[in-house]
Amino acid sequence: MKYNLAFKYRIYPNKEQKLLINKTFGCVRFVYNTILYTANKFYEETGKNKIITPASLKSENQFLKEVDSLALSNAQLKAKISKLHEYIKNCRRDFLHKLSKKLSETYNAVVVEDLNMKGMSQALNFGKSIGDNGWGMFLRMLEYKLMFLGKQFLKIDKWFPSSKTCSKCGNVKEELKLSERSYKCECCGIEIDRDYNAALNIKNIGKEILKY
Ligand SMILES: [Zn+2]
Repeated sequence: MKYNLAFKYRIYPNKEQKLLINKTFGCVRFVYNTILYTANKFYEETGKNKIITPASLKSENQFLKEVDSLALSNAQLKAKISKLHEYIKNCRRDFLHKLSKKLSETYNAVVVEDLNMKGMSQALNFGKSIGDNGWGMFLRMLEYKLMFLGKQFLKIDKWFPSSKTCSKCGNVKEELKLSERSYKCECCGIEIDRDYNAALNIKNIGKEILKY
């Protein structure tokens, strides 16, 4: 029989080490904040990105020389990542604004499916990705832009079987696997793209409700 043994140690820093650790944390925080502040200010003034290096901060702030430069580089890296996240978020929001603007200007009414995001991401095992992809944000943008132009926005109930219904004859399938990418109707025989079929159904019911 084999045994695995594990020992756990906890080592406490001495007074000097404690002081250095505290100094390092303080400096890391200082570097992180300064880099982020400078980057934000530079972006506001010029619309461009600039990340300063910890080395450039050292000449003006002598106290930074006492602590480990690796810790300071890590602070810089964290600041960079934080800026990158913000940049990605802004790009996505910008894209959603443009798309919703275009749709609201092109159409007099937009009908969307009120997707059950939580259930869907659980069922498909997508984790957070669907909830994160800005679908809700996109719908809100679309709604207020259409309303602003005096146009119509309609959400279809999430239980409406948009995928299982045949857009040509109205037959509703018992089951439709997610892997079936095209819709084949046993009744009227049409075969069309799954998403296009669902979109046609959403359009049809929307026209009915809005009396178009
Ligand atoms: Zn059919």
